[in-house]
Amino acid sequence: MCKFVSLGTVPLSCDLQREAVINMTNVTASGVGSVGVTYSAFSGWADRPTEFAPMLEGELTCDIAVVGGGYAGMAAALRLAERGADVVLLESGFCGWGGSSRNAGYLSNALAGDPQLLNTLYARRLPSLVRYADKAARFTEELIGRLALDCDYEPTGNVIAAVSPGQLRRTRRNAEILKGAGADVEFVEGDSFGLPKAFLGGVFERAGGLLNPGKFAFGLREVLLASGVRVHERTAVRAVEPDTSGVVVSVPGGRVRADRVVLATNAYSRDLPFAPRRMVTPIWTSLVETEPVAPERLAAAGWTRRIGIVTPHTILENYRPTPHGTIMFGTRRLRTAPGALGAREPDAAVVADLVRGFHERFPSLGDVAPQRAWGGWVAMTPSLLPVAGEATKNVFYAIGCNGHGLAQSPYLGTLLADRLAGERMHDDLAAVWRARPRFAPNLFSAPALNAAWAVDRIADRLHSRRA
Ligand SMILES: Cc1cc2nc3c(=O)[nH]c(=O)nc-3n(C[C@H](O)[C@H](O)[C@H](O)COP(=O)(O)OP(=O)(O)OC[C@H]3O[C@@H](n4cnc5c(N)ncnc54)[C@H](O)[C@@H]3O)c2cc1C
Repeated sequence: MCKFVSLGTVPLSCDLQREAVINMTNVTASGVGSVGVTYSAFSGWADRPTEFAPMLEGELTCDIAVVGGGYAGMAAALRLAERGADVVLLESGFCGWGGSSRNAGYLSNALAGDPQLLNTLYARRLPSLVRYADKAARFTEELIGRLALDCDYEPTGNVIAAVSPGQLRRTRRNAEILKGAGADVEFVEGDSFGLPKAFLGGVFERAGGLLNPGKFAFGLREVLLASGVRVHERTAVRAVEPDTSGVVVSVPGGRVRADRVVLATNAYSRDLPFAPRRMVTPIWTSLVETEPVAPERLAAAGWTRRIGIVTPHTILENYRPTPHGTIMFGTRRLRTAPGALGAREPDAAVVADLVRGFHERFPSLGDVAPQRAWGGWVAMTPSLLPVAGEATKNVFYAIGCNGHGLAQSPYLGTLLADRLAGERMHDDLAAVWRARPRFAPNLFSAPALNAAWAVDRIADRLHSRRA
């Protein structure tokens, strides 16, 4: 199995090499409604870096080794360094390569999962979970300001908006549940709030807003590279093992002896022998971006308020304006990962389904062409909650924000860093802390995801027949 290969003079991991090949061929989909779409195995938000931090060769010692350079790992490493720790960060691709540069850019104070379901599963814990998610949004917003990260952040809030009377009733109840648990939300009616005509109203989350996640991830990367943290990219960790004096982290070209280790490998954790078993299920999530749309056309479609929209389907749909005048939409249909996680593009059938959904929700924009599609791996946990804890002695993890990590991953990484720096366990870390690294079996099988998609489409069809 080759992990490091050479493309020209630049050594790249297999994933990155495959991605480069895919990008060079500019694969075009032929699925219905998606002709002319350029598929990317990276992100549509930003170009990948042209220069990398050095690969690790030889042996290092440090206080804390962080494995994984997404939002969680970068934020944890930065905080630890700020607090005086000697930190090494090891990243198999480049920092930001994972979900962190690819996501839809909703900085949200929501938890994953339907609030009624969460209320049933976690009635007693719900207020502390809601507080954690709300604080996460505010923390990340503050981080953007503190580090002066240019990521096109717009503090618009976000809305979970219903597309049928049944969904509207549910969102009204959800707003009450969330408010009762302390969330900063309010129920709003669609037309007076400025939502497109197909969206009847829903739960307005006041915290957070929209940003360019690629710029956010690579902005954090720049801050990290300029900090005291020793960063090694294209350095895939193979083993994390106990040692008499701490932990030994092995990579193909060397190793790091650390007192303690932070695993911030998110969806990729499933394939890592040193991560807790069954902790996450990787789910492939796809996004599509349209050609530019004139603002008058958005206004004519009823979308007069600049805000990110998410639907309360079993598998959500999301629609948002971007800073470059396009519309981005996604999710709706999810894929599992039977084999190893590698570079990949969205499936043509999924893109075609997303485009169909866009045209159903925005009939007046039926001529607006989709231009680009990409996706990434989301880490789903059996509990639907993010998880942090101690995997084995001196090996900690902060993982699995279930598709809500834009706000939560930097916060969770920072809270874990504070804990490792000697602070008492913060209440928000305690809200998601696992006493033991034991996890229930995976709920997210391909048949279950396909069934959820079918249930959503049947509900849509019943609603459109009645309308
Ligand atoms: C398409 C999509 C849309 C999304 N939309 C939203 C959204 O709108 N709002 C929101 O809040 N969240 C969203 N998310 C989720 C969000 O992107 C993630 O929760 C967040 O980026 C997770 O950050 P992370 O640092 O935990 O993981 P990642 O960014 O995935 O980082 C993990 C890193 O670990 C590295 N790694 C893995 N294995 C190893 C190893 N063995 N050695 C060294 N390094 C390793 C990987 O290369 C990767 O860079 C979305 C995700 C996707 C994919």
